[in-house]
Amino acid sequence: MQKEDLVPADTPPVLRRFAEWFCDTFEIRGICDLGYIVNITAMNLNIGDGQGRFGSGMGQDHEDPPLAARDHLVASYGTTIADNAPEVDELLDRVAQAKSTILSVLRALWTPPSRLTCCCCGASTTGRQWYNRDNGFGICRDCIDCIDMTRHTVTECVSLYGVRGITYDLPSDQP
Ligand SMILES: [Zn+2]
Repeated sequence: MQKEDLVPADTPPVLRRFAEWFCDTFEIRGICDLGYIVNITAMNLNIGDGQGRFGSGMGQDHEDPPLAARDHLVASYGTTIADNAPEVDELLDRVAQAKSTILSVLRALWTPPSRLTCCCCGASTTGRQWYNRDNGFGICRDCIDCIDMTRHTVTECVSLYGVRGITYDLPSDQP
């Protein structure tokens, strides 16, 4: 069976991207994991019932939905995260860094897209604010494609710009 078959058909693209990023980053490869991550994330963010249906107000009403989603994911995948978390700064604890990055990505996902100014070329682009960028600034698709290949590792790129399909290069950002 294809991995894709187990992701609910109506999964919002940004949630799917989050689950793919999570699996890629922490080397999670079970055939059920992508769908499971989509569902528990949606349920905690109050945008899904945890059983493949999506819409606002369908999940659990938490005080801090991204934090609840992060904690649920860490409870489920803590050992895998500890084994596979990429090192961002050798002086910092890898698990703590991973937990902090997951929460930042979930907080970005939780905010609606907006018009941002590309920090590199100054163009207007659609994205979600990333905590490590000045307010109102993001990165456009053309610029990230140059930066990816030449100046930074994938891990550094996440730290600087967030995640493709969540904070930049959104499907709705047509040229
Ligand atoms: Zn640009």
